[in-house]
Amino acid sequence: MSKYVMALDSGTTSNRCILFDKAGNMISVAQKEFTQHFPQPGWVEHDASEIWQGQLSVAREALSKAGATYEDVAAIGITNQRETVVLWDRATGLPVCHAIVWQCRRTADFTEKLKAGHPEYVEIFRSKTGLKLDPYFSGTKIRWMLDNVPGVRERAEKGEICFGTIDSWLIYKLTKGRVHVTDYSNASRTLLFNIKTLKWDEELCRILDIPMSILPEAKPSSCIYGQTDSEFFGGPIKISGAAGDQQCALFGQTCFKPGEAKNTYGTGAFLLMNIGTEPKESKNDLLTTIAWGLDGHVEYAFEGSVFVAGAAIQWLRDELRIIDSSPDSEYFATKVPDTNGCYVVPAFTGLGAPYWDPYARGAILGLTRGVSKYHIIRATLESLAFQSNDVLKAMERDSGVKTGSLKVDGGACKNNFLMQFQADISDAPIVRPSCVETTAMGASYLAGLAVGYWEDKDDVIKNWAVDRKFIPVMSEPERRKQLKGWEQAVAAICGWAK
Ligand code: ADP
Repeated sequence: MSKYVMALDSGTTSNRCILFDKAGNMISVAQKEFTQHFPQPGWVEHDASEIWQGQLSVAREALSKAGATYEDVAAIGITNQRETVVLWDRATGLPVCHAIVWQCRRTADFTEKLKAGHPEYVEIFRSKTGLKLDPYFSGTKIRWMLDNVPGVRERAEKGEICFGTIDSWLIYKLTKGRVHVTDYSNASRTLLFNIKTLKWDEELCRILDIPMSILPEAKPSSCIYGQTDSEFFGGPIKISGAAGDQQCALFGQTCFKPGEAKNTYGTGAFLLMNIGTEPKESKNDLLTTIAWGLDGHVEYAFEGSVFVAGAAIQWLRDELRIIDSSPDSEYFATKVPDTNGCYVVPAFTGLGAPYWDPYARGAILGLTRGVSKYHIIRATLESLAFQSNDVLKAMERDSGVKTGSLKVDGGACKNNFLMQFQADISDAPIVRPSCVETTAMGASYLAGLAVGYWEDKDDVIKNWAVDRKFIPVMSEPERRKQLKGWEQAVAAICGWAK
């Protein structure tokens, strides 16, 4: 039996490769950053060829660090930055232009006009895709390339162009153009995929004027898509898992039952809750998305994001310069017993779920003469928990399930003060796993399950171990008082920039 499973983690700023063994131990890791292109204000691009070359080189490096060959690898699983669009020539495998990244706002005007001309589209897209009609998702970015890169629309009409998100692109390259597929979770981020029928949707493609011939075949997240061309690793390796980064983190955290949720505290924060095998609709403006396709069925998730989470800690470090490093925030926050009545709302780019106010702006509220930098640092950390709690409570309202416990990962989950405050303010236990590489783990599990490296989900759950559990200790009156203050603070900054 092969010794390892290989996870390819193609993120927004770097490509990584991790080899895991059956017990979920990391055997070797390799990582390489790639170039971010900002051709105009608000535009973000990547060179898909650089991503492919970088991903291949870290995969080879991780193998060589472990002293392993292709024969030691049971399967490859891919996880990726979601929504980012690549169009390439089906014959040459060369991208027609730079990839348009999820962060890119170039299609904001187009999307606004589309909605203004046809207000009914918002509901059509929401009911079929579970998403908001927003430039964040792939659909309008594909449309932009077809309209703006000379000759591409004509070539697309003739069947000469392929579209893919990064998973799809990497599988195409790894198989030397033999396989053009994507997984359901990535497809569910395009605005073109019907999450109920599990098919590309003709009406949505017609609205966005996207020829269906460019679309990859959508498949489960755990199945054998193909195998790598022998040129790359000296022999073939099966590619048998793929899912978007947040979905993989949910899987890596083994949130397999409805109501189980995870929060990733990175630059922003992403909360996903497993809602089972039926695509529920959110009444609080959360997204409904495909978590994964596995074992012959699909599971769905609610998703809500906080735009500014760890980025607020970077703001303390880089703009206010009141800490030297992000981890220092914990030390300073615990030098004072509370925030002295002060609240920080880091709504630098508006507020996401459940407020959805693009005109909200950040503020420090409740200042009195006694508020020191320690209080402000503490209040900033607390704001990550308050914002996450707002999303969590919206999910609980939508799903009708109270969170048993919330699993956490991402850079800022190392902050013990923040985790304890999250437990207190959400009145839910917070559980931090010993391996916080949950995204890569999720990808490796999806791949390993498809080839029998792991038998079933129970086999995978055994690998998940707790590092630390944070139990709520705050009194109910205190919790209510703090939440009331937060609500008042948010109310004060909503609509600010209108
Ligand atoms: P991303 O994947 O979005 O780049 P990471 O998961 O690597 O993010 O997390 C990095 C973010 O976490 C940064 O914004 C950083 O400020 C924050 N961060 C890292 N360590 C800590 C810490 N100990 N306390 C608070 N914030 C932290």
